[in-house]
Amino acid sequence: MRIGIIGAGAAAVGLLDALAVGAADPGEITVFEPSPHLWRGRPYGPDLASVLVNAPPAIMSIRHGDPGHYAAWLGADRAAEHLDGLLGQPVVPRALYGDYLAATAEAALIRLSGRGWRVRIVAARGVAAVRSGHHLVIRTDDGLDHPADQVAVCVGGGTPQDHYGLGAEDPYPLASTLARIPDEAAVVVIGSGLTAVDVVVSLAARGHAGRIALVSRTGMLPHVWQRPLPYRPVHVTEGRVAALDVTLDALAGLLREELAEAGEDFAEFAADVLAAETEDPVLRLRRQLDAVDDLRIGRRVLQETAHTLGPRVWRLLPESDRERLLRHHRLATSLASPMVPVNAAALMRLFESGQLSAVAGVVKIQAVRGGFRVRGDGGDLEAAAVVNAVNPPPQAVPRGAEPLVTSLVAAGLAAQHPRGGLVPADPRLHVVGDLAGGPFITSGIPGIAAAGTRTASALTSSPAGATATAAKSTELRR
Ligand SMILES: Cc1cc2nc3c(=O)[nH]c(=O)nc-3n(C[C@H](O)[C@H](O)[C@H](O)COP(=O)(O)OP(=O)(O)OC[C@H]3O[C@@H](n4cnc5c(N)ncnc54)[C@H](O)[C@@H]3O)c2cc1C
Repeated sequence: MRIGIIGAGAAAVGLLDALAVGAADPGEITVFEPSPHLWRGRPYGPDLASVLVNAPPAIMSIRHGDPGHYAAWLGADRAAEHLDGLLGQPVVPRALYGDYLAATAEAALIRLSGRGWRVRIVAARGVAAVRSGHHLVIRTDDGLDHPADQVAVCVGGGTPQDHYGLGAEDPYPLASTLARIPDEAAVVVIGSGLTAVDVVVSLAARGHAGRIALVSRTGMLPHVWQRPLPYRPVHVTEGRVAALDVTLDALAGLLREELAEAGEDFAEFAADVLAAETEDPVLRLRRQLDAVDDLRIGRRVLQETAHTLGPRVWRLLPESDRERLLRHHRLATSLASPMVPVNAAALMRLFESGQLSAVAGVVKIQAVRGGFRVRGDGGDLEAAAVVNAVNPPPQAVPRGAEPLVTSLVAAGLAAQHPRGGLVPADPRLHVVGDLAGGPFITSGIPGIAAAGTRTASALTSSPAGATATAAKSTELRR
């Protein structure tokens, strides 16, 4: 069997690792990736040491079912060196996490070749995939065609949109974006999500002396991670969801049971969560920092299950409930993808010193002579530099994969879902990662690792795989 993997970021690493630990008959794997930073994707390439992973180690393992895999690679010394004291867990620079992904991929390649697989890396972009006779063909941007029996599309997510027409580019790597900003300049950071947090924390780490304003429509910051607890949900579980007629109210009922058993009040919890939409972001940040050690389980359960059960639940929800959730899209993202406490504390120091401000209700940002003018509900704000830290919409097509996606849709191999994401229309095509669609929150490493395992088993057990394997065995017998 010939497997083509388009894209070599975290999703491809999870898939290769799952293939390497699986028991399938050997075949051929070709990985297509134009970036020189193999296995790191958009987030985990070389960058400033202040650009940190956004989650504790137990949920950064790229090996599904082995939550200790990443922590074991990191080791005790490096974990101690990068300890987030408030979280009580290591939070490493994203580039170091990229080393983990690269080490995992390389180990997988060695294991695969040891078991008789042939693996090739092609340093080119996949621009088309079409049917050709009984197989598929992947075309690369150097004009070459590569036959495959199965194709896994692992091209990642979108890049920030230029909402205000400023020609603002992807801010990563921050090492080069921030190096262009003079130390004393007043800076406007567009957005207030995790990318905006990275930008502010990194400006501060570089010793930036000018004013920094986080400008956005809502002003809402991500929530702050709480110390992990060994607690496992007993009511908000896959089994209970499977037995439900899934609606938001029914799911809230499960959470109510979970909280009641832990002696927590659902109404109080729900009111606190919803308050994020109106509460002053700096006051809320302070309360969130104070709650890092809070032993109540409510937010932890909601946050974990948004990722573990979210994709399945999203598919089962009635349309009216999806609409209801989408109206709280920003809040859901802020809860499901929190910032690490070390970054929250850095932000708090900047707010307290008056260097940082959060400006909500932004309606327009214009380039003017010598800089930029921000128009908002509270008046105008002038700045010398702007950094685009708007989070891309989930399930957006990455720019570098647009021709590929267009060709997949034109060939009838996949269809674009009206809410974003790419749905395979041929059993030989697989989509792993954000583009696979699902709920409206961006997938993190655990979701990608789980999808890698599912895809590895689909690749090696599908009729196309079986046919190719059978054909090869017949060939060998001849
Ligand atoms: C800035 C940022 C920080 C994040 N931090 C975290 C975190 O700390 N923890 C967490 O759990 N999740 C985090 N995430 C979520 C993130 O989605 C995953 O962690 C992960 O990187 C996604 O992996 P991926 O392989 O799907 O995409 P990517 O890592 O983006 O990799 C996609 C790869 O496909 C390549 N590619 C694209 N188009 C083509 C093409 N046409 N042909 C060939 N190759 C192509 C790209 O060059 C890239 O290398 C973060 C996301 C972002 C954007």
